[in-house]
Amino acid sequence: MPLYIDLRSDTVTPPTDAMRRVMADAVVGDDVYGEDPTIRELEEYCADLLGKEAALFTTSGTQGNLLGIMVHCQRGDEYIVGQQAHAYRYEAGGAAILASVQPQPLNFESDGTLDLKKVTAAIKPDDVHFARTRLLCLENTHNGMALPLGYVQEAAKVAAMNQLKLHLDGARLFNAAVFLDVPVKQLVQGVDTVSVCLSKGLGAPVGSLLCGSYQAIHEARKWRKMLGGGLRQAGILAAAGLYALQQHVSRLQEDHTHAALLAQGLTGIPGIEVQFGKLQTNMVFIKTSEQHARGLSQYLKEHNILIGTGNPIRLVTHLGISGKDIEQVIACCRAFFKN
Ligand SMILES: *Cc1c(COP(=O)(O)O)cnc(C)c1O
Repeated sequence: MPLYIDLRSDTVTPPTDAMRRVMADAVVGDDVYGEDPTIRELEEYCADLLGKEAALFTTSGTQGNLLGIMVHCQRGDEYIVGQQAHAYRYEAGGAAILASVQPQPLNFESDGTLDLKKVTAAIKPDDVHFARTRLLCLENTHNGMALPLGYVQEAAKVAAMNQLKLHLDGARLFNAAVFLDVPVKQLVQGVDTVSVCLSKGLGAPVGSLLCGSYQAIHEARKWRKMLGGGLRQAGILAAAGLYALQQHVSRLQEDHTHAALLAQGLTGIPGIEVQFGKLQTNMVFIKTSEQHARGLSQYLKEHNILIGTGNPIRLVTHLGISGKDIEQVIACCRAFFKN
């Protein structure tokens, strides 16, 4: 396989040599018995980092989000969620199918927030006709955009006023914290549960964590077992996650800088429109004509560069992308639009 410059997603990174070494050396045990010291260390480390009582290592972000929903909702309950949110649109309908929880999707505002007035209006009255609205679910980052500082606390107030719980899909929460330059725990104040991914920009091969109160995580542990997520000597994976949390958070700034450089470089090319409104962290969205979108992706592939499909096209930076790669991508795009 040729070495691609892969901008499709930040999930494509293989573990680094240093990460593989800590994985190989990890002390392990049977985690279903609660006896894997490395998993426990990861869970405690992450809970502490996010200012929550407890955390649970999950197989994926999808599992973490589903567990968040299952912890807060019973069969026949409802959660309010963004129309384009991962926890609604991209998780195969798990909340409805596996948890018997109905989604109430609302359109996101252009900054990735849900309008809290619209959220309040969508809460169903206590009436025999309706599902019981129990949970509000937010996402940070959304399309690479960090939720504005203070918004989550506002949302938490609205949720509490209406007896709703608040779950945050924080798959890329650390990107938001680095962009806003605040401690990550500040972004989850007032949130009942939060799920974070280790296998995206942080560069671990597998895993996410759900964080929340002791009670919530205790509940989630049982549901996780039911979903087939009770793992054994998975400290090998947790070691990678711990390494990622300790070594790869501050370097996210590099990915953000690369994304900004990429956006700047592409701006000058006639035929490409860069969506600067979304440019905050490690994602660049560009628009081009429909016919160019297909041609560009094909042309770049022939030059060992992979990009997302669709239009706008998403370009994602990560720890496998260097400054030189960015220059190469810009040069290649320029060459394509010259022809
Ligand atoms: C990737 C992602 C998830 C789910 O993570 P998986 O580990 O792929 O299941 C959840 N939310 C958002 C916003 C994501 O980007």
